[in-house]
Amino acid sequence: MSSDVVFQMQVLSGTHLIAGERVVGAGERVPIVDPATEARCGEFAEATAEEIDRAVVAAGVAQREWWALSALERTVALHDVAARLEAGAAKVGECLTREMGKPFRESHWEGGAAASAFRYYAELARHDQGRIAGPAIAGQVHMTMKEPLGTIVSIVPFNFPVLLFGWQAAAALAAGNAIIVKPSELTPLTILMVMDAFADLPVGLVQALTGGAAVGQALVAHSDTHGVAFTGSVPAARAVARAAAERFKPTLIEASGNDPFIVMPSADVELAARGAAFAAFLNCGQVCTSAERFYVHADVHDRFVERLAAEATALRIGSGLDDVDIGPLASARERDRVEAIIARAVAQGARVVCGGRRPTAPSTGWFLEPTVLEVEHSFDIMHGECFGPIAPVCRVTSLDEAIALANDSQFGLGANIYTDRLDEAFRAIEEIESGIVWVNTPLNDNDAVPFGGRKFTGSGRELGAEGLEQFRRSKMVMVAPRAEPDPEWFPYPDGDGFRSVVETGE
Ligand code: NAD
Repeated sequence: MSSDVVFQMQVLSGTHLIAGERVVGAGERVPIVDPATEARCGEFAEATAEEIDRAVVAAGVAQREWWALSALERTVALHDVAARLEAGAAKVGECLTREMGKPFRESHWEGGAAASAFRYYAELARHDQGRIAGPAIAGQVHMTMKEPLGTIVSIVPFNFPVLLFGWQAAAALAAGNAIIVKPSELTPLTILMVMDAFADLPVGLVQALTGGAAVGQALVAHSDTHGVAFTGSVPAARAVARAAAERFKPTLIEASGNDPFIVMPSADVELAARGAAFAAFLNCGQVCTSAERFYVHADVHDRFVERLAAEATALRIGSGLDDVDIGPLASARERDRVEAIIARAVAQGARVVCGGRRPTAPSTGWFLEPTVLEVEHSFDIMHGECFGPIAPVCRVTSLDEAIALANDSQFGLGANIYTDRLDEAFRAIEEIESGIVWVNTPLNDNDAVPFGGRKFTGSGRELGAEGLEQFRRSKMVMVAPRAEPDPEWFPYPDGDGFRSVVETGE
């Protein structure tokens, strides 16, 4: 047990980061509970209206200072943030495991995982800041200049708080903005701890205000915030998008998914089952791009189910600070919700191949066994986001059927296919209605390639050049090197009037 991180979690409890200061919050206190032990591991404060106002004012000042720097100075500063994220990854990772339960291997990785996005955007943002168009008037310069939006509100969920905030912050800061993050109620201390990585930026450029939905709403609705980056569930996304629309604020929405995972007969079934287990059970299934619906060709279905169940039952469950493969669900409410999904599937006729119960050990904590079910596509479990350690498998008889069922969804984040046939791979790429398709390589991403979804999964993109544009606006600029009269100005020549052109036909 690392007493240093436990001590720091106590120090951070109830604070916000406002204008560079760790401020003890004046609002209501809410406990934070370690999902592996069910013991209180800290608390957070609901940010008050006065604290929100103070942070917004500080962000405005800091943003102007940041944008007044040269692009190269911002680049250097963002590379420094990347190095600091990596240096602090173990500490932040431990805090994350204590707050939401994921195995330390995953939280340690996450602590530094956004560093590469900071490096990528540090360089991309200075590569160009607009474009010169061919002039519509000879001798003039006509161009688009890219400007920051101003102050960005970042609202992030509990499942990958550091990575997801990092992706948003890397692009938003590189584009010249300030950012205020409102973390999940389940992982506020992790976000407060990761603030150390931004300590050398202008005071107030990156700030953290803790609290629930009301704090998020107040930040989005505030007259002096200018853009929103939201990651979370569909109901919250809708509420955020509505509030942002009142002021026409550009809004990035990354909401829920229920990704399909297709296995065709040409695939290496053993490997597909290992990939499936990782895609379904990573972070106890609490990944927006978790594989949530398996459509497996009848020729390999039984073998795949057997191998997937073997993978699932071999996973070690326990505290994320021990040597385990999966930790608990993040809260009691989450476990209850996931258990209800399993119960409903069983009531509709699902066969439990393995799991489906609370493990006998550990005896405390919100653990749930990784679960493999045989289901029909019509069951409710195939039509909502499970966000838990469940792999429901449905037998299909053709790629046509698999793609049709994959597309029978309200969501459109990721999609997987395991096949050795290029023709099948390219049909999946072209025909599946999703923002991402993984062929034989589940769950991977790349800072240089945009990430996001369609349908109820959201709008906008993170990462890639598109992710930077999310936080910039363009300004049309036209420059005449000398002031000269324009032939379009008044007075209009008589010969151009209605009478001359139409009535007399001259
Ligand atoms: P959540 O929607 O409950 O909370 C997300 C954040 O929104 C939290 O900070 C929460 O306090 C805030 N919030 C909730 N209601 C709000 C409101 N009315 N106004 C303003 N803010 C509000 O989500 P969660 O349970 O923390 O995370 C799980 C969800 O996130 C899943 O649905 C998952 O798919 C989604 N997610 C999506 C992506 C993606 O990239 N598409 C990535 C990760 C997670």
